[in-house]
Amino acid sequence: MSIKILSDDLINKIAAGEVLERPSSAVKELVENSIDANANEINIYIRDGGKTEIVVSDNGDGIKSNELELAIKRHATSKLSFENFNNISSLGFRGEALPSIASVSEMLIKTNTKKDEDGISIEVSSGIKECVKPVNQKKGTHITIRNLFFSTPARLKFLKSENYESLVTKKIIQKLAMCNYRISFNLFINSKIILSTKKIGKENSFNLLKNRVSEILGNEFLENSLYFDEKDEQFRFYGFLGVPTFHYSNTNNQFIFVNDRVIQDKSLNVLFKLAYRDFISYDRFPQFICFIECPYHEVDVNVHPSKNEVRFKDNKYLRSRIISLVKNNLKKINHFASTINTTRAINKFSKSQSQNYLELKDIPEENSLNIESINEKHESEQINQNQSFSLGYAKSQVHNTYIISQTNDGIVVVDQHAAHERIVYERMKKEIYNKKIKTQILLIPVVIDLDKSTLNVFRDSLDRAKDYGLVIEPFGADSVVVREIPVILSDGNVKSLAMDIINEMIEHNDSMSVEEKINKICSKMACHGSIRAGREMQIAEMNDLLRKMETTPFSGQCNHGRPTYVELKLNDIEKLFGRK
Ligand code: ADP
Ligand code: MG
Repeated sequence: MSIKILSDDLINKIAAGEVLERPSSAVKELVENSIDANANEINIYIRDGGKTEIVVSDNGDGIKSNELELAIKRHATSKLSFENFNNISSLGFRGEALPSIASVSEMLIKTNTKKDEDGISIEVSSGIKECVKPVNQKKGTHITIRNLFFSTPARLKFLKSENYESLVTKKIIQKLAMCNYRISFNLFINSKIILSTKKIGKENSFNLLKNRVSEILGNEFLENSLYFDEKDEQFRFYGFLGVPTFHYSNTNNQFIFVNDRVIQDKSLNVLFKLAYRDFISYDRFPQFICFIECPYHEVDVNVHPSKNEVRFKDNKYLRSRIISLVKNNLKKINHFASTINTTRAINKFSKSQSQNYLELKDIPEENSLNIESINEKHESEQINQNQSFSLGYAKSQVHNTYIISQTNDGIVVVDQHAAHERIVYERMKKEIYNKKIKTQILLIPVVIDLDKSTLNVFRDSLDRAKDYGLVIEPFGADSVVVREIPVILSDGNVKSLAMDIINEMIEHNDSMSVEEKINKICSKMACHGSIRAGREMQIAEMNDLLRKMETTPFSGQCNHGRPTYVELKLNDIEKLFGRK
């Protein structure tokens, strides 16, 4: 075969293979064009998952009649020049979407740049221009795509069911609508309205964003997340971080936007997972929305034809900044556990399953509770009940496992083991990081026999065990003796604690960071040092636990991300009994 330059049609079809993976990619490209054209209302319709019909209409700037034929030509764009090549602010810039889509479908574009004049239309079928004529079209652009991929059967075959393709489009529109919260969107699937947002009024940006979040993720997300907004020299980060107990089974509710561009970059999602790692079990995922803003030259958007990925100039800085930002903000959460657990509990009881009656609880300020002011040695009746604590006063223990406490406006059920485990864990971590671990010398040292090979490996770690408050020394040829243990663990079984820590230290592999190692050991220790389920507790002891929960960061969830307590408001209890 001789070498020849490919025809335009073939080049477009090849480009279509890259830019258009499935119908939702065409929807994304068209909506991005509407956004670039300064539209403030965008309507999207799809049929058969987008396979037979996609319509995107906007009220943006429109395309000039003498440029319409150019718009569907390859590498024709109004958005790129030498001057802005390193400073791209538009979503599109490659001039590929329209010709690619047109090469594998039947396309009709109706557009108008002026308010009170007729518009113009163009029809293209499988890349071949059919006719250009005047048309009745208000200011803006209306694009219809029919029978996408009809001329590329291989791609058509690769598409999934109608439901699946519709779902992918819905998710993309959700992301675009979240990112562009100053633009109103409506999505129709087979004539049914699936997503609809309010017309944009004169609200400030924060309120617009809040409205959009509740339109897309519901109020539950707002109730269970906290807002952050931080700036430094080059970057601004803002958005919402879900509380750790409000976790999710996949990364669908993770929204990351860079300079108003929807980004699907797993390496960024992983950073958030890392920052939440200490609070969420490995198979669950945090929910969050994060807008990153920076000068356009700080980020390269020309990484992939679908423009879903970006490269930051200073990636290292960005990575550590995101992790510390998330961690610092999560610290503000204290013992707040997600209201979703309460909702679930109520739904289990309740006859009507539909409503979420709950209001957002006040999040107490760190250390705002003065524990010392209560004499906890007395029974609860003697405690000054005028004091109000968010976790209330313990009334009783049931099944030697759960504490029932009364708050000003409801009741709280606490899982004593899970709650105490978190408290011990956080305290151990604090003491270890500050190198202030308090130890207690054992009156009778405990001797542990080890097999020789374990002893040999462990010998090297004896010094490190001291950092965790364990003083262990070699004792004879094949045993060690434990002389000191952390005060906080003094009620536990010394032998099994020491054995667990020895094993944990031996198993530590070098790929773990210091932080990971410390957290793992603390988590093991916390398990030993905490009140078991099944142990009877006195009222004073229970109140002590509640007060500690209130001042311990993250005590709303155990080390595995399960909630440590559930709250039922009086209001909800009354509803359960039909009193309201
Ligand atoms: P790109 O977006 O990379 O420029 P496209 O092929 O998507 O390339 O679009 C080509 C050109 O057509 C755009 O640069 C723009 O000028 C024009 N265009 C496309 N869609 C619209 C629209 N909805 N409103 C106004 N102009 C549009
Ligand atoms: Mg485009």
